Formats: sequence, C-alpha cells, structure tokens
Amino acid sequence: MAVKINEDICNGITACPEGGLCIESCPTGAIDNKEDKPNVKYFSCVDCGICVDKCPNQAIIAARRS
Ligand code: SF4
Ligand code: SF4
Repeated sequence: MAVKINEDICNGITACPEGGLCIESCPTGAIDNKEDKPNVKYFSCVDCGICVDKCPNQAIIAARRS
C-alpha cells in the first residue's frame, strides 16, 4: 500500500499553500508533479507518513500495509 491523495482537498501544486511540500518532503522521491497534481509512485512509497504530516491541507491519507 501507499498513501493516497484526496484530490477533492488538494487543489493542485500551484494552489498549495506550501508549494507542493509533499513532493519536497518525501525522502524517497515517491511523489512527483503530474500536470500540477501530486502523483504518488506506489513502488517508491515506503509508508513513512512524512507527507501526511507535512501537507497543510490534510489532503494525504495514510494507508498501512496489511
Ligand atoms: S508516505 Fe513517505 S515515502 Fe510515501 S509518499 Fe509520503 S513521504 Fe513519500
Ligand atoms: S502538500 Fe498537500 S495540498 Fe500541497 S500539493 Fe501536496 S497534497 Fe496537495
């Protein structure tokens, strides 16, 4: 599993109050900018939860491995 980004809450990187902090804060580079939307590359996400904590809009939902 990996985190999920709620696109109803995240209005895109240009509109992000922190300028896409999720992308910058990810230690594995698992989030990239895809047409102004943060895009999680699931194979790179290690579920560390940092982006969940950093997102100013609480748009990122943690998902735990089961
Ligand atoms: S949970 Fe961690 S590894 Fe996964 S996208 Fe967020 S910051 Fe990156
Ligand atoms: S930090 Fe949150 S609001 Fe900003 S681009 Fe990332 S998911 Fe969207």
